[in-house]
Amino acid sequence: MPTSSTSFEVLPSNQPTAGSIRDNILANPGFGKYFTDHMVNVRWTVDAGWHGHQVRPYGPLTLDPAASVLHYGQEIFEGIKAYRHADGSVWTFRPEKNAERFRRSARRLALPELTDEDFIGSIKALLAQDHTWVPTPSSDTDECSLYLRPFMIASEAFLGVRPAHEVDYYVIASPAASYFKGGISPVSIWLSSHYKRAAAGGTGFAKCGGNYAASLAAQKEAESHGCGQVVFLDAAESKWIEELGGMNLFFVFKDGRLVTPRLTDTILEGVTRNSVLTLAKDEGLTPEERPISIDEWREGAASGEITEVFACGTAAVITPVGELVTEDERIRLNGDGGNEVAMRIRKKLLDVQYGRSEDKHGWLTQLV
Ligand SMILES: *Cc1c(COP(=O)(O)O)cnc(C)c1O
Repeated sequence: MPTSSTSFEVLPSNQPTAGSIRDNILANPGFGKYFTDHMVNVRWTVDAGWHGHQVRPYGPLTLDPAASVLHYGQEIFEGIKAYRHADGSVWTFRPEKNAERFRRSARRLALPELTDEDFIGSIKALLAQDHTWVPTPSSDTDECSLYLRPFMIASEAFLGVRPAHEVDYYVIASPAASYFKGGISPVSIWLSSHYKRAAAGGTGFAKCGGNYAASLAAQKEAESHGCGQVVFLDAAESKWIEELGGMNLFFVFKDGRLVTPRLTDTILEGVTRNSVLTLAKDEGLTPEERPISIDEWREGAASGEITEVFACGTAAVITPVGELVTEDERIRLNGDGGNEVAMRIRKKLLDVQYGRSEDKHGWLTQLV
């Protein structure tokens, strides 16, 4: 593997956002709409490996129209947040897990692997410039953060079909408000009976744009049925629950078991999923990673055996699922429990991320 450098050349923006404008944005950032003053870029070529580590002003890319990412979709990305703690310091959560997954995604998409050192170093280098863009929570329930989006694209201008010989890695950053404004409300999810997200041997376990492109028609179908998310079943039997378009799923059983589908190459391994499994054990629950069928969901909801269902991912943390909607039925859940388990684990996780409780598992990395 090519050797890497952790020192980033800094080209500061000569038109940084005025403090007053930035403060206005941070007061109401929404999600993914505003971007900080800088971005990271590292180049890769077959001959030189990774080189040209830079933090430079945020702005449009110059890309040849023949760049292969635009034609064949050779692209991967990550999603990770920076959190401001009460003492003003800025931290991120388990970045080594994202770095490892980014390398796994790179291998599947025939892209070059970036070292952990460069991945985490790039986030530190960007935050060194743009730390004033990390919003300060106004209370213990304010889940504002700076969302970081590392991504890698095939930038070589070439229409032949083969792994690109020139690749670019970037990191951009976008301030984000609490995902749920005015309280957490359970989401309705649509069971896609026609569309599949991933098949064995495909790219389901990789975080690549192509998976999302393939999920959008199902997402549109969900919205037309009044649902906010889609749950995908396995492609072979249409029987086993896999995950949502961008979140993993958990099932809380009456007897304290917490079940999530076992990882296969058709499921993306979420960092939140992995953390929930650990926190669940701390909470005295019994985590189980195993196949779970749509029939088990239907029957468990009807019998009361399954008391809660929730989805999890970096952006929304933990989201209770209120009902499952299919072509011919609505399966309701969470009638009276108030999503107690989901909310308890959610708070545990946020308390670690925002530095309000002890970081027992060594999950935090200081950025600033
Ligand atoms: C990113 C993602 C998740 C959640 O992963 P986290 O690391 O917890 O944010 C789940 N499913 C898919 C398909 C994803 O792309």
